[in-house]
Amino acid sequence: MRSPEKISGTPITRFAPSPNGWLHLGHAFSAIFASETAKALGGKFLLRIEDIDVGRCRPEYVQGIFDDLMWLGLTWEEPVRRQSEHFATYDTGLKKLRDMGLCYPCFATRKEISDAIEASGIGHARWPLDPDGAPLYPGLYKDLAPAELNRLMWEGRSYAWRLDTEKALALAEDMHGGPITFREDGEGPRGQKGKLPIKPMLFGDVILARKDVPTSYHLAVTLDDALQNVTVVTRGQDLFPATYIHRLLQVLLDLPEPAYRHHGLIRDETGRRLSKSAKDQGLRELRLGGATPDDIRRRIGI
Ligand code: GLU
Repeated sequence: MRSPEKISGTPITRFAPSPNGWLHLGHAFSAIFASETAKALGGKFLLRIEDIDVGRCRPEYVQGIFDDLMWLGLTWEEPVRRQSEHFATYDTGLKKLRDMGLCYPCFATRKEISDAIEASGIGHARWPLDPDGAPLYPGLYKDLAPAELNRLMWEGRSYAWRLDTEKALALAEDMHGGPITFREDGEGPRGQKGKLPIKPMLFGDVILARKDVPTSYHLAVTLDDALQNVTVVTRGQDLFPATYIHRLLQVLLDLPEPAYRHHGLIRDETGRRLSKSAKDQGLRELRLGGATPDDIRRRIGI
């Protein structure tokens, strides 16, 4: 791998798709948005393949990303970073957070979590959800006595590393010297812009690594944006709340702070967000069906 560029002051944006399906019109918007932001700022545009979930990512989807983006007329810096080649880097980041006493092994299965919510007296219907719509983790295994922890480890039980978000936020605010903010130069889903407070507690104790996927999206994306000197993170508003976690990790891991430009999402005629399974919106389908890059730009209004 090329050694990471030193911070040069050059504006750098990136498009960071996960190759677990074909790209759709929403991805086209996001990629063009990132590329044009770099052009407008006189900077560089990176493409990053976010293939940490090796069980779901497929080589043909990686090739599809290159084919679709090239067809759209985009160019990017080489070499393209592939996250699956950097698990050791993410592990170093995790280790640092563990050494800071901010992570704990969580042995809970989906069923255990569901049972705990059921038994809480609050029930599933009223249990709080995180910004991605998943039930907040109920804290099982959080305060295990060392002997119990040892026993579960010796038994070889499978576990994930969770961030103790409350503790992490307290420490980060201490390190930062006060409340932590991020700069939104685009627009959040409710029009939020400017200097905004982070609210990582909305996510509860997020998973940072698990057995089958040894890093999480949050950890890998935060480390990579720093390692690649990304100065402006451009992405869809669906990932706006994720910024709360990313900014928290930046402070804890002493990483530079990029600016953020979240953009609105492309929706179908019924107002639904596009998904990787919606064939009629797939760039590959449209391309093979004779559409031109200009047709795509017209459809997504960019
Ligand atoms: N890989 C993520 C996705 O495909 C996007 C990451 C990001 O832009 O922060 O949804």
